[in-house]
Amino acid sequence: MKKILVTGGAGFLGSNLCQKLFNDGNYIYCVDNLYTGRMKNIANLNGKGDFEFINHDITKPIDLAVDEIYNLACPASPPHYQKDPIYTLNTCYLGTLNMLNLARKNNAKILQASTSEIYGDPLVHPQVEDYRGNVNPIGIRACYDEGKRIGETLCFDFYRQYQTKIKVIRIFNTYGPNMDPADGRVVSNFIIQALQNKDITIYGDGSQTRSFCYIDDLISGMIKVMATDNQFTGPVNLGNPDEFTVSELAEKVIKLTQSNSEIVYLQLPLDDPLQRKPVISLAKQEFNWEPKVNLENGLIEAIKYFKQELNI
Ligand code: NAD
Ligand code: UDP
Repeated sequence: MKKILVTGGAGFLGSNLCQKLFNDGNYIYCVDNLYTGRMKNIANLNGKGDFEFINHDITKPIDLAVDEIYNLACPASPPHYQKDPIYTLNTCYLGTLNMLNLARKNNAKILQASTSEIYGDPLVHPQVEDYRGNVNPIGIRACYDEGKRIGETLCFDFYRQYQTKIKVIRIFNTYGPNMDPADGRVVSNFIIQALQNKDITIYGDGSQTRSFCYIDDLISGMIKVMATDNQFTGPVNLGNPDEFTVSELAEKVIKLTQSNSEIVYLQLPLDDPLQRKPVISLAKQEFNWEPKVNLENGLIEAIKYFKQELNI
C-alpha cells in the first residue's frame, strides 16, 4: 500500500484526488489548514482507516513517511489569492520548499500543481510548455503567478541539485463537484447566478477566452503523470483544449439551467488574461492522456452538484 500525501486535500481538486487515490487502495494523508478548503469535501473519507486528515499550514515543516506527494495547497481563485497576497506568496514559496525537503528526505516523488497562470497574458496562442510567458511581476495577480513560477524554479533546482523526483503540471481552468459556491471563479459564479435567476456577471466584454477542463479528466491526468518514470519531470500542460469566450460560457450555462438571468457587464479586473488554450501534445505523447468530457456534459454534472449545494 502506497502512502500518499495530498496537500490542499480538503480543497476542490485535492478532495477529488484524495477520493480517487483512496478508492485505488492507497493510504492518504490529507494536509490542509482549511484556508479555502472545507471539511464537507472530505466528510465521506474522514474517519476511515486509511485516511488521515491533518490540520496543518504547509508554510511550516511537517515530518511524515510517504512515497508520493501531491502539492496542491494554495488558494486558487483570484479573490482568495488576492485577499492576502503575502500569505499566497509564502504558501507558494515556503510551502513548496517544505514539501520538496520532505520529498528529498523520503526519496519520494512529488507532483507540483502549477498553473496556466505562469503564461500570464500570453503572447503565444495556444500555449506550449516551452513558452516562457508574459506575467506582470508587480500586478495584483503576481502573488499567485510569480508564486507559482518560483514554485517551478524550486522544483527544478531540487531536481538538478538533489535529483529529487519532481513532476510539474500546469493546470488550466478546471471545474466540477466540490467547488465552493463562494469560490468566485467563473464557472461556479455563473452556475449559481443562473440557478438563482440572478444577474450573470461578465467581467469586461466577455470576449476573453478560457479552456475548461472537467475535474475527472484532470484527476486521471494527475495520476498518470505521477506514474511516469523518474526521467519525466514536465512541465506538462493538463487542460481541455476546447476554447470558449466567457460570453459563450454564460450562454451555455443559461441554456442548460433554463434560467431567466440577465447578463450584466462589470469592469474587467487588472491583468486579466485575454486568451487561454493549452497545447496538450506532450501529455498525449508521454502518458497517453487527453480529456474525454466536453464542456456541455461537464456543465450538466456541475449544475447537478451546485443544485444540491444550494438545496434547489
Ligand atoms: P482550492 O482553494 O479549492 O484548494 C486549495 C486548498 O489548499 C484548500 O483546501 C486550502 O485550504 C489549502 N491551503 C491553502 N493554503 C494552505 C497552506 N498554507 N497550508 C495548507 N493548506 C493550504 O483550490 P483548487 O482549485 O483545488 O486548487 C488546488 C491547486 O491546484 C492549487 O495549488 C492551484 O493553484 C492549482 N490550480 C488549480 C486550478 C483550477 O482550475 N482549479 C488551475 C490551476 C492550478
Ligand atoms: N469572470 C467573469 N465573471 C465572473 C468571474 C470571472 O467574467 O463572475 C471572468 C474573469 O474575468 C476571467 C474568466 O472569467 O476572464 C476566468 O476567471 P476565473 O476567476 O475563473 O479564473 P482565471 O482564469 O482568471 O484565473
